[in-house]
Amino acid sequence: MLDLLLPLRCAVCERVGAALCAICRALLVRLSPPLCARCGSPGTWPVQRCAECAGRRLAFATARAAILYDGRARRVVTAWKERAQRRLAQDAAALVAETLARPHVAALAFVPADRERVLVRGHRPAEALARELGRLWELPVEPLVARLRSVDRQRGLGLQERRRNVAGVFGPARASPPRVCLVDDVYTSGATAAAAASALRKGGARRVEVVTFARAVR
Ligand SMILES: [Zn+2]
Ligand SMILES: [Zn+2]
Repeated sequence: MLDLLLPLRCAVCERVGAALCAICRALLVRLSPPLCARCGSPGTWPVQRCAECAGRRLAFATARAAILYDGRARRVVTAWKERAQRRLAQDAAALVAETLARPHVAALAFVPADRERVLVRGHRPAEALARELGRLWELPVEPLVARLRSVDRQRGLGLQERRRNVAGVFGPARASPPRVCLVDDVYTSGATAAAAASALRKGGARRVEVVTFARAVR
């Protein structure tokens, strides 16, 4: 309802008129090759493994993101989560669909929202992104991952702590098709994506591709 009553303001520059104005949209940094084939980290050369993912056991085969998680992207994601704007989920999905190729999978899954945060914000950003992407890519969206418990905030934690923090958080909600794409809003350390992909594997997936709107780059 609020969406209808308040004038739309750009999530980044607050100019009135659109949830994400054309100028700020154009300034979001697209992630383009060369990338690490596995985790999607951008680099100087295309590599199979990179400093970020070498030696890590990751349950997903590939991770790709549309844009760099910089200050502008952070403002888009914050507004999208906090204002629960469907329009921003649509904008995010459009950016993903124009930047990344449609995955060869039977279904899209998503990282399920934390129940406590859903109660506070009434919003499921990864699911909203998956639903919009499902429409653009004409793929079914299925709740294949279950959240088994709440998780402490990941922000400010090191990689080891993040991995420990998400251990046992997800499980399979139902049987997964062999090839599935996992959707989330932001890829930070990859710990959440790996934990949710692991739940999909337990549910029967043999290959999991991760797609996110934005990706942090060290
Ligand atoms: Zn703007
Ligand atoms: Zn990598």
